[in-house]
Formats: sequence, structure tokens, C-alpha cells
Amino acid sequence: MEQQTIKALKLKSLSKSSYTTGLECPGHLWMKYHDKENIPPHPPGVLRRFEQGNIVGELAKKLFPEGIDIATEDYTKNLQKTKELLLKRKILFEAALQVDNLYGRADILIPVGKDQWDVIEVKSSTKVDKKKHYPDLAFQRYVYEKAGLKIRKCFLMHLNNEYVRNGEVELQKLFVQEDLTEEIDMKEVPKNIEFLWNIVQSPTFPNTAEKNYCTQPKECLIKDRCWDFLPEHHVFHLYNGRKNRALFDEGIHDLKDVSEGRLSNAQQAIQLNCAKTGKVHVDKKQIKGFLDSLDKTECHLDFETCMFAIPEFQGTRPYQRMPFQFSLHVIKNGKQEHFEYLHDGKDDPRPAFLAALKEKLPAKGSVVVYSQGFESSVLKELARDFPSYKEWVDSVLARVVDLRVPFSKFWYYNPVQHGSASIKKVLPALVGDGYEDLNIKDGDCASIAYLDMTFGKMTAEAKKKTREDLLKYCERDTEAMVWIVEKMKRIINKS
Ligand code: SF4
Repeated sequence: MEQQTIKALKLKSLSKSSYTTGLECPGHLWMKYHDKENIPPHPPGVLRRFEQGNIVGELAKKLFPEGIDIATEDYTKNLQKTKELLLKRKILFEAALQVDNLYGRADILIPVGKDQWDVIEVKSSTKVDKKKHYPDLAFQRYVYEKAGLKIRKCFLMHLNNEYVRNGEVELQKLFVQEDLTEEIDMKEVPKNIEFLWNIVQSPTFPNTAEKNYCTQPKECLIKDRCWDFLPEHHVFHLYNGRKNRALFDEGIHDLKDVSEGRLSNAQQAIQLNCAKTGKVHVDKKQIKGFLDSLDKTECHLDFETCMFAIPEFQGTRPYQRMPFQFSLHVIKNGKQEHFEYLHDGKDDPRPAFLAALKEKLPAKGSVVVYSQGFESSVLKELARDFPSYKEWVDSVLARVVDLRVPFSKFWYYNPVQHGSASIKKVLPALVGDGYEDLNIKDGDCASIAYLDMTFGKMTAEAKKKTREDLLKYCERDTEAMVWIVEKMKRIINKS
């Protein structure tokens, strides 16, 4: 790298967010400094999490009504204002200090005694995440102390998942504060900073994927850049594989090169064989047993839910799943009927959702869902919060059949599924169709579309369009289940 460029980079500061990004993934940090425009945008689900994080941060400030907010877009003004206000020993929000090109800006800084301070970082999670939150607090403390502040304690404030809203949101009960002063490792900070500056100054992208930084994290925006050398059927696809990374580190990348002795479950053996032969695996006996377990009335059911970091409705908790939509395909006596519900209005969607579901769901028959855990736990939460429905919910739960089972057991497995039993992979592998023709293609996008349509500033026309897209998406989920069962029936009837 040109000496001049290194110098220019050195003049840039390392902020807390760059520090934590770099520790999670040095490759991502490098991109932030060298190739920012090629970092793809965050998916809508992640942007929504950021938004919720900002809302939580703003609410936490209300716990300190006398606090002074220094947050400004202007980096230099922020530093200047902090300098002045530190002398007044007031509670400060976003107090910015810079030293040795390190830029610290903790959420809340509280004066203690004559000359000490407590640092509070606010997170929108419901628990402390050691890997993410400890380095975050340690960095803030390091920069503040280097700048001359005496830090007494470091706290992490997060949401309390036991809190149930009753009336106005009670901030004292909504937030939990944990003292992490003794837990955070201050000795690591200078070593980490040195390591990260070296990454920033590297002339080329440091492909740290191979150095145990990740195993293709789903949320990484630039994973293709690190992992594009992997073959089509690679070891990270191994179903429920705990030893995937170990295999990779031994130089075994291609699934076909894995010896049978290294496999840890029956599904992996099927997967390996399919990768080698390129053939589809079908266990007709098991599939027949599954189909025989279905009642002659099949009720294919799917829910869409959304969640709020700060409980929006009475009797709800942070991040409680709020069902707002269902789709139901009923197959009875060879006939198919479709029912659906999509909540309209800013009120709690659950009472109307429950009433519509009870009305439309037949009293008898198999309730077919894909990934039982999700629909069943939403139903259990509804029974807890609306006890008059408990008996009915229990009767529904007793009829639930999980259509994921034949695929998670690999009774049907097509190598194009790449080790996944998700409906998004199974549907195109088995039936040939997918979700590509839809505007909303996954649950995260459905949830965001519903929230935008309900609480955002959409035109009437945009709302109508979003409503149509949501209905189409949820309908596809249950339609897909009907297609899958039909296809399974055809498979077992083939000689
Ligand atoms: S794939 Fe892994 S190593 Fe590569 S940038 Fe993403 S997190 Fe970092």
C-alpha cells in the first residue's frame, strides 16, 4: 500500500462500531474503509432491528430526565460540546471523546462523586451478549480513560423480557441494568486495536473466513466475497453438522470428499450419497406412513407475525410474536377451499385473528403446518393471553402435524436442497415452483410490510397493493403445503 494512503487511513478514527464490526469480522471492517460502496445494503429485517434499537435508545434516555443529549450529525461539534459539558458534571447522552484516532461515544455517561463517571450502554436485546456487548463496553471505557475520565463502573442496560405492559410503558420495569465492570476485559482492548489498525491498513481484502472468523454467517453481507471458492456441495451444507468447520480446516471442502466415518447423523449419510450420485433419495415406506397419519380432512395452516421491541399493546412483552395474518387451505372430500385473515387497523390484531381462525378452522381434521415449533408456540401464547380460547387451542394443538418432518428426516431429499429442509428449498426441489413470482418472498418482509402498511405513512393505493402482496405471500405458504402433500402422494403411488 502506498505510504500516503496508509497515512490517510491512520488519520481516520476507529469508532466503537468499527471496533466491534472488526472483531466480529475483520473482512467487513476492511470493506468499511476501502470499499464501502460495494457493501450491499442490509436486508429489511436487519434495518427494522436498527430502527427498533434507535427507539429503545431514545426511550432509555427518558430514565434520566435531567440528562443532556449531545447527539449531533456533526462529529466535530459533538466533540466540542462534550468538552464543555464534561466540566459541568451533568448526565450526558452520546458524549464524544477522541484520543489517538479512537472515537468513543457511550450512550449515557453519569457523574459519580467528585470526579468519577459511570458508563451505560443501551441495547435493544433482552439479555447480555458477551461476545458483542463486552468488547463494546470495554472500548468505550478504554477511550474515555485514555482521554482522562475516571470511570467507576460500566453498565449494560437492556430490555426486560419478563415485563408485561399494563397501561403506559413503565420505563423502570421495561429496562434492566447489569453491572459488567468486573466482566469486561480491558487488557484485550489495546491488542485488538493494534490488530484492527493492521487490517485497516492492509492493501488487500483480508480473507479471514479461512481463519475461523465465521462459518458463512447467514447475515454477513459480503459472504460471497469470502466463500465463493467453495464447491456446489460443500461441507458447511452438512445437515445439523457440528464438525463442519473442523472438516473445512482439515482441507476437506467438497462434500464428496468426506469419509462416512466423519458423518454424525443418518441425514448426512443420505446427503453424501445424493451429492455423489446426483440422485434424489426417496423412502416411500416412511412417506406412506406419514401420509397415512393425516386425517381425510387436511387443514393446511400458516401464520405471519410481527413483533415490537417496546410492547405496543396491553398485556404484551418485548418482542412478543403478534399474529396478524393466517392462510388456511382445507382439503375435504377431494375439494379444496381457501380461507384467510389479514388484520386491518392499528389495534391489537390478536383478538380478531383468534376469532377468525376459530370460525374458519374445521373442528376435525389434521392441522398441517410447516415447522410445528412456530405455529404451536404462537397458539400457546394466544391461549395464555386469552384464556377463554385455551380449551379450543389445546384441541387444535392436539391435531397439529408437522409437514417438515419427512424433509428433516430426509425421507425425501434432493441434492439441490443443499442440506436444508426449509419449505423455501423443498418446494422448488419437489414441485418445481417457488416464491420468485411474488413481491413478498419471506416472513421478515411480510412482517415489515404489515408494519409499514399499518403504522407507516403509505398512500391508500400503496396500502392496497401491500395488502394484496401480503395475502398472496401467505396463501403461497399453505398452497405450497398442499402441493407438497399432493406430490408426495404421487411419489408413493408410483411403482
Ligand atoms: S463471510 Fe465471514 S469472514 Fe467473510 S466478511 Fe462475512 S463474516 Fe467476515
